[in-house]
Amino acid sequence: MTGTNESSPSFSFLRNLLADTLRQGTAPSQGPAPDLARCAFFFDLDGTLAPIAPMPDAAAVPASTIALLQRLQRATQGAVAVVSGRALDTIDRMLQPLRLPAGGLHGAQWRAPDGRLWEASVDPDESARLRGALAAIAARHPGLYLENKGLSFAIHYRQAPGLEDRVREEVRAAAEPFSSRYALQYGKMVVEVRPRGADKARAIERFMTVDPFSRRMPIMAGDDLTDEPAFQAVNRLGGVSIKIGGGDTSALWRLADPAALALWLNGLLALASRGAGSRV
Ligand SMILES: [Mg+2]
Repeated sequence: MTGTNESSPSFSFLRNLLADTLRQGTAPSQGPAPDLARCAFFFDLDGTLAPIAPMPDAAAVPASTIALLQRLQRATQGAVAVVSGRALDTIDRMLQPLRLPAGGLHGAQWRAPDGRLWEASVDPDESARLRGALAAIAARHPGLYLENKGLSFAIHYRQAPGLEDRVREEVRAAAEPFSSRYALQYGKMVVEVRPRGADKARAIERFMTVDPFSRRMPIMAGDDLTDEPAFQAVNRLGGVSIKIGGGDTSALWRLADPAALALWLNGLLALASRGAGSRV
């Protein structure tokens, strides 16, 4: 998949307009309105739409943000997707009543706008052995929590942050025999072992080949290391990449936290719905 959007000069006005609103943190009350029917939105879930919680099960997307996504879905005629490390069923539960096109498990699952499902294939025996090796690590250290996501596994150490180096090393060693088919994915207070060859960049590139996402300008917001390949893909496509929070990133713009993202989206929708005046 190539960055054909880069050759589309018509996106540069739209991109600059969004860039201006991002620099200000909100949209101006006057000036040209962005044409959201030319935009495709991609959001990470935890730390982006949902504030980070002490345990993954406690994380929730605010009702006001879900309402915002519904408005954005209407304004874009359906070009809103979630790309998350969560499994698809968890994404749906956290966003109900919305059921968005989504990439789950960092891209190891992908659900098309028409509901079609793709999943990375794993060997059940190999998966069981990997799970056993990771369960042994979790059992050795108080405060660790092994999350079985089906196709992938995550060890959370938010309750024992001092163990980070040790956990990363032990998981790396445990996953080594499986490294031809599984990759490590570091994140905030978590290390995951996920099927190799499926990441968030590929999930976004796949969306960009189907309607209503194709031929639009991609906009991606995320907060963690797993979002970096997605930012790079969006940059290659001439889109808008937004890092939520601090830290090194290849995203070209930044917002402070999930609340700042919601505020920006709200302003963008207000600006786009004004109707009058020019539209880019
Ligand atoms: Mg995140």
